[in-house]
Amino acid sequence: MKNTHIAFFGLGHMGAPMALNLQSAGYTVRSFDLSVEACQIAREKGLTVSASAQEAVAGAHMVFSMLPASRHVEALYLGNQGILEQLPQGSLVVDCSTIAPMSAQKVAQAAQLRGMHMIDAPVSGGTAGASAGTLTFMVGGTPEALELVQPALHAMGRYIFHIGASGAGQVAKLCNNMALAVIMGVTAEAISLGVAHGLDPKVLSEMMAVSTGRSWATEVCNPWPGVLDNAPASRGYTGGFGNDLMLKDLGLAAEAAISVGATIPLGELARNLYALNKNVGRGGLDFSSVIMLLGQDAC
Ligand code: NAD
Repeated sequence: MKNTHIAFFGLGHMGAPMALNLQSAGYTVRSFDLSVEACQIAREKGLTVSASAQEAVAGAHMVFSMLPASRHVEALYLGNQGILEQLPQGSLVVDCSTIAPMSAQKVAQAAQLRGMHMIDAPVSGGTAGASAGTLTFMVGGTPEALELVQPALHAMGRYIFHIGASGAGQVAKLCNNMALAVIMGVTAEAISLGVAHGLDPKVLSEMMAVSTGRSWATEVCNPWPGVLDNAPASRGYTGGFGNDLMLKDLGLAAEAAISVGATIPLGELARNLYALNKNVGRGGLDFSSVIMLLGQDAC
């Protein structure tokens, strides 16, 4: 499969390093992005960037996409101008974007009607995981389709979970991110409370990291500036997982909850917190900047 020609769409924060890892693993990758700037940056990193979506897909039997949201994914694949019209029967389509489960199912059904396989394979691990090739993939689709794309997924990730049928990967991703959003919010509250009582945020975080309050939010993406040198909080909340992306995921989680009558009171609370953080101008910052809503002087 290594001489497989892969078309890769979406060369943003996540897509560019993922496409590079596929290329490094020996795949022939033809990539494309609607943004001229993203294409230029990708070329400088060594990717072969096509002049159009049609050019990228010509001769491809496998397609990956890493796009912002449902509407971008549907625009890429569906309709008269969609690339499903161009792909040969038996092609494999892998969408790694975080989108609505129903949108993933819609594209998968259209692919199936044309004799193709489509899986949803959203990821966890952030830009660091995308660069290091250590992402976690959450896959929705048939076991047969997953088996065919597994070697390519391993070029970009460490863990691959077959969650269930089409759309199930997206549901799993929304569950994970809703938990993360709530945990980040309460970690920010806990550290702020400790600091308000005169505690050292670093000592408090180190204690929590080996106690029952431990989490990724304490140990890897600590929201208090200066606690962890590599955390977004220590570089002005830049370069991590954007507040706007988290807000998008919480909106998708809310829709998913409504569609099955599930109650997500903490998820809804978190969605309002991140919406508030966006409304005060921090939508583009890392989502751990939500701690600034608590008004601590040091932040
Ligand atoms: P990004 O905005 O940096 O990149 C998306 C790229 O897609 C942009 O460059 C945009 O121009 C391009 N694009 C849009 N429509 C296109 C089309 N039809 N054809 C080609 N290119 C097109 O976003 P990102 O941070 O790379 O995130 C991508 C997806 O991954 C999102 O769904 C996000 O929720 C998810 N995700 C992001 C992270 C993260 O840490 N950034 C982590 C996990 C999952």
